Amino acid sequence: MAEVVRSHDRPSPPRGTIPVMPRRRSTTHARRPVLHESTIIVDGLAVTVLRKRIANMYLRVRPQGAMVVVSAPADLGDERIAAFVRSKAGWITVQRSRILDAEANGDVLVWTPDAEAAARRVIEQRLPGLLARWRPIVGRSPSAVTIRKMTTRWGSCTPATGRIRLNLQLGLMEPKFLEYVVVHEMTHLWARGHGERFQRLMDGWLPGWRGVRREMNRQRVLPSPSRPC
Ligand SMILES: [Zn+2]
Repeated sequence: MAEVVRSHDRPSPPRGTIPVMPRRRSTTHARRPVLHESTIIVDGLAVTVLRKRIANMYLRVRPQGAMVVVSAPADLGDERIAAFVRSKAGWITVQRSRILDAEANGDVLVWTPDAEAAARRVIEQRLPGLLARWRPIVGRSPSAVTIRKMTTRWGSCTPATGRIRLNLQLGLMEPKFLEYVVVHEMTHLWARGHGERFQRLMDGWLPGWRGVRREMNRQRVLPSPSRPC
């Protein structure tokens, strides 16, 4: 039972409320065959786009995995779709929280192949720039960076080998979180634990890190424990 919002004649719902649509409206477009399926990233959020022979855009959050899905006219550009998704950001957040909270009770983590590919693409795009920026500041760089699905950590570092691992989910989140985790793990190349030395280095390099960490620990992008280690 996905919630559906149409691209026109629907005012944005007030925060904290869930819009109600007559059910019959959601069936016509849903039955149209999918001409093309793709994934776009809107402010760090993976959005599945289903191109169909329809006149309007429709947005829904799938009950499984809280994937955001937009059905759109076949010839509509990605930018228009992204703008539509942005205009519904508040509604999407409410829906996703609701679904993910429910899933979290059963501790289910749902990744779709699409979401995985999109998340990996995003991280691989951002990583070279981040490393180039932080290498001279931190003064050490990882010997290797691997991206993988992790359920208990946002990232990890093995100082002895210089290897850093990043949680694939970071590719679905705001860029600042990936940057924080990269700097956090690079800092472990100097300091193993999270003691005074680690904190002093982080304070010097990324003064806002405590705020980002707090925010990160409140993230509900996917129901997984959320402390970089
Ligand atoms: Zn750590």
